[in-house]
Amino acid sequence: MIKITTAAEETREVITEWKRQGLSVGFVPTMGFLHEGHKSLIDKAAKDNDRVAVSVFVNPMQFSPNEDLDKYPRDFAADTKLCEESGADLIFHPTPEELYPDGFCSFVDMTGPTAELCGKSRPIHFRGVCTVVNKLFNIIQPDRAYFGQKDAQQLAVIRRMVKDLNMPVEVIGCPIIREADGLAKSSRNKYLSEDERKAALILSKTIFMGEKMLKNGEKSISALLEAMRKNIEAEPLAKIDYVDAVDADSIRKIDAVQGRVLVAIAVYIGKTRLIDNFIFEA
Ligand code: AMP
Repeated sequence: MIKITTAAEETREVITEWKRQGLSVGFVPTMGFLHEGHKSLIDKAAKDNDRVAVSVFVNPMQFSPNEDLDKYPRDFAADTKLCEESGADLIFHPTPEELYPDGFCSFVDMTGPTAELCGKSRPIHFRGVCTVVNKLFNIIQPDRAYFGQKDAQQLAVIRRMVKDLNMPVEVIGCPIIREADGLAKSSRNKYLSEDERKAALILSKTIFMGEKMLKNGEKSISALLEAMRKNIEAEPLAKIDYVDAVDADSIRKIDAVQGRVLVAIAVYIGKTRLIDNFIFEA
């Protein structure tokens, strides 16, 4: 039976006992409403480690007041089932009050890799992400933590935080899992109406198109981004938040195809903001 905890203290006790037995711990932080993207992370964690902890927590600190915190989809019973089937041993499912009690006032903030892409349109987002991931790392004390390439900037930010703050955790990036038609799996896909679901395909189509252009030898970043923007603009239900190319590790803007190039997009389909990306190694 999978163990479910809501208190940080109790979670620590479970982990401490595992560590006492010399077992390695893999950790997968999530916001719940789990799908096969999350499952791929849990499966990988189960392969690499003796024990796997998954956190299910919709972190209020990473949402701006105008964002979708209140309507973010939740289904803890289904999440528990998926975790059990994937071989997770523990789900940490705290309340916001457990992680942010009265008087909470310490934050982990970052410059650099948070400046571009999602950091521009969601200015407080990464401070919330870094703070909660730091807290979760302190509670779970994992040997390895698993993050999806789907959130490529988040992965780069976490890698940087772990390096800068000497955290004893190995960060492991996992590939993007897609629906059969190409759309990257996301809990937010649930918001899409039937027409929007069709329109949302413009993200993956544009990503595949961009990837093909670079593979075919396109050398101009501006020509690449221009072609991708045009492609998205042809879809009436789509509104571009950003279409950008940055260095995949530093998340700094680039103007030449060199090193590890992260091409990332964020697009509103109706009211739903979706993201997708690819990495091209020049
Ligand atoms: P979330 O619950 O959306 O915060 O995501 C939790 C973790 O799952 C993050 O590391 C995400 O990058 C990862 N993830 C979400 N969707 C996918 C996907 N389609 N493929 C791979 N990883 C994903």
